[in-house]
Amino acid sequence: MIDPGRLERRSSELARIGGTDTSVSRLGLSADEQRARDLVRGWLAAKGAQVRRDAAANLFARFHGEGQGILVGSHLDSVPEGGRFDGALGVLCAVEAIAALVDAKIKLRRPIEVVAWADEEGARFGVGLFGSTAAFGRLARGVGDRTDRDGISIAEALRALGEQGDPAVARRDPKEIAAYLELHIEQGPRLETAGLPLGIVSDIVGIYHARVAIRGRADHAGATVMTARADALAAASEIVLAVERIARGRPDSVGTVGEIAVRPGAKNVVPGECVFTLDLRAARDHDGLVRDVLEAVTGIVSARGVEASVDDLARVPVTPLDPKIRDVLKRATTSVGVEAPLLVSGAGHDAQNPALSGVPTGMIFVRSTGGSHTPREFASTEDAALGAQALANALKELAT
Ligand SMILES: [Zn+2]
Repeated sequence: MIDPGRLERRSSELARIGGTDTSVSRLGLSADEQRARDLVRGWLAAKGAQVRRDAAANLFARFHGEGQGILVGSHLDSVPEGGRFDGALGVLCAVEAIAALVDAKIKLRRPIEVVAWADEEGARFGVGLFGSTAAFGRLARGVGDRTDRDGISIAEALRALGEQGDPAVARRDPKEIAAYLELHIEQGPRLETAGLPLGIVSDIVGIYHARVAIRGRADHAGATVMTARADALAAASEIVLAVERIARGRPDSVGTVGEIAVRPGAKNVVPGECVFTLDLRAARDHDGLVRDVLEAVTGIVSARGVEASVDDLARVPVTPLDPKIRDVLKRATTSVGVEAPLLVSGAGHDAQNPALSGVPTGMIFVRSTGGSHTPREFASTEDAALGAQALANALKELAT
């Protein structure tokens, strides 16, 4: 049985790493993320797991059994000034679920591996789902050279953790894995609105991340007449509004420019350069959304006589999750007394990588309030314990 007290204690202990009060800043591939891994490693080793870290800093803890294993987990990093539940709750519930099976002396036929993926958020290096992408051999070439704001590369960050620096080495054979399960907070209001503690994910939206650099011409803001300007920020502004208009006009689509920088950045200088991010998501026809936005970028810059370069950071297609695993999760949630609805995930998750690599994959959502990626995000211990028990039930069905 799940121990809600232990789950809550461990949640608090984990939240103190890189955190104060309800705010957590535990960036991927940082020393704090490593401290979190060490804490989780200790809990799992104490239950008899064989524990290892791979070349992309993912933590795996394996419990005995033969043949293909069941992988279960989530991530331990957060965004800057995020909350204590996004990612962490999935690792905590996986730890609790396996602890419950070990405590009940359930004999495993298949191995169960708990995983804590590294750098899911991509907050530091701009590469989301980093650890799981590496483990499933889906990293773009040259990713190790990407740098953070201080000029430190992913390869250097890995070396600082004691790895060789090449995350591609983390690749493992998806055929070793019979199923992947992940529990995560919902990060949206649907379960709360429905008054239900748990949901089951049917699909994960397609996600496109890019960095766009607009190059115009920096000029004197007083002496340069309006017809003689190549204003990079004005072009970028038009693109921001085009993103909004295009996403609004398509079903189940969202588009966001969440980061923007202007150079040289002085009040009396026409902006010569503007760099901003694109985040484009859709549950259907994701390719069409990306195509429309990129066409708008091309059209706007050519009409304004500036130049644009688009640097693709990540492109993950719409990911349908496995119907058979969905049925397993349905039974597992029903057995804890919850009629869990099917939900589309608008957020990206590590689960996309195993699913896109052919591993039967399923996700449980736990009701959360207060938004997500903020210190206000919250999941109650009661709901988390229900989720952990459902996860334990599903693992038992799949591994015994
Ligand atoms: Zn997450």
